[in-house]
Amino acid sequence: MGTVLVINSGSSSIKYELIDPESGEVHAVGLIERIGESTGHARHTRDGRTAERDDPIADHGAGLRLVIDLFNEHGPELAAAEVIGVGHRVVQGGERIVEATLIDDDVLTMIEELSPLAPLHNPANATGIRVARELFPDLPHVAVCDTAFFHDLPMPARTYAIDREVAAAHHIRRYGFHGTSHEYVAGRTAAMLGRDDLKQVVLHLGNGCSASAVVAGRPVETSMGLTPLEGLVMGTRTGDIDPAVVFHLAREAGLGVDEIDDVLNRRSGLKGLSGHNDMREVTRLAMSGDERARLALDVYTHRIRKYVGAYAATMGGLDAVTFTAGVGENSALVREESLAGLGFLGIELDPVANRADASGERIISQPDSPTTVLVVPTNEELSIARQTRQVAESTFDG
Ligand code: AMP
Repeated sequence: MGTVLVINSGSSSIKYELIDPESGEVHAVGLIERIGESTGHARHTRDGRTAERDDPIADHGAGLRLVIDLFNEHGPELAAAEVIGVGHRVVQGGERIVEATLIDDDVLTMIEELSPLAPLHNPANATGIRVARELFPDLPHVAVCDTAFFHDLPMPARTYAIDREVAAAHHIRRYGFHGTSHEYVAGRTAAMLGRDDLKQVVLHLGNGCSASAVVAGRPVETSMGLTPLEGLVMGTRTGDIDPAVVFHLAREAGLGVDEIDDVLNRRSGLKGLSGHNDMREVTRLAMSGDERARLALDVYTHRIRKYVGAYAATMGGLDAVTFTAGVGENSALVREESLAGLGFLGIELDPVANRADASGERIISQPDSPTTVLVVPTNEELSIARQTRQVAESTFDG
């Protein structure tokens, strides 16, 4: 049936997985990190066995050649793995890349041209694509964008109330991110409940956090906007904030635009409030009486609760709430505190099911809860692999 190599190229890292898009079986998974630094690091896992290497890795080209070496040394052999395509995660697809797309020179140029809208991500995504096309010239390469699922958000949800001409000139709209995850999790929720007419909220709570409202499989709202800064409180990002904070910091604190960017994107959120961006640490401290950590947790869950209520109102009802990603899948405390007091929306959590030491897809509300609460582990790589196969096959057929 063939496999797909999924690549997620960051500014100093390359994550990869070799996946069977049919069964979801992962044949190998790895991470190249600290590219361009004096000590690079590589990790390649196959069949539960992990090989690690510490070598300087000059650039993304060297990083991807190292990936090929790791496959050659530790398997599976790529030549024998029947790779049918390479799927690339791309953060910002803008107005033009609105579905999984076969990458040619023009598409690569578009991804580069979208860099002003995603300066931390798109240049690195484009670099990964460029070197992968050089190293695997005979395979179809497919871009799967984080924004694609949200491209058709209803106009009132996607439009900022800002001067129309300014918005048009600078492509200012709400794009939404984590779309691959929201689409996958919403789809799994519908499959688990055996319904395709659901009004659901998906809460992707990882290092970055986002919420979406999905009606019958289509998104009608999402919390991230022009960039992944808007919305929920995150590991290091503020989420929603009065934009006048920016003017205030510029005028009163004399900060430059890059410094303000740094404060809001990297020195805020859980980290800004408690000193820690990892929810495990924040929770541990909050439980041991640390007041700053307690407040961080309260601000985080208060924001989630506010969004669940707002999205129920937007959809005119609520059938399911699904938690996913690192925090959403693992923190019973965050799930419980986020949904506390939402009985009026039909949410009746089952404290035992919520607290159970479980993994995998599961229902954590009471059997007669009008709104079902679920945990669904996200699998963006599988979703990218499946979309890549679809594009690769249609290319082949066409
Ligand atoms: P992700 O971006 O989806 O990989 O999520 C990463 C984040 O998940 C980490 O920074 C942690 O804050 C959080 N996380 C992982 N495991 C747990 C856990 N057992 N309890 C609470 N948070 C967790």
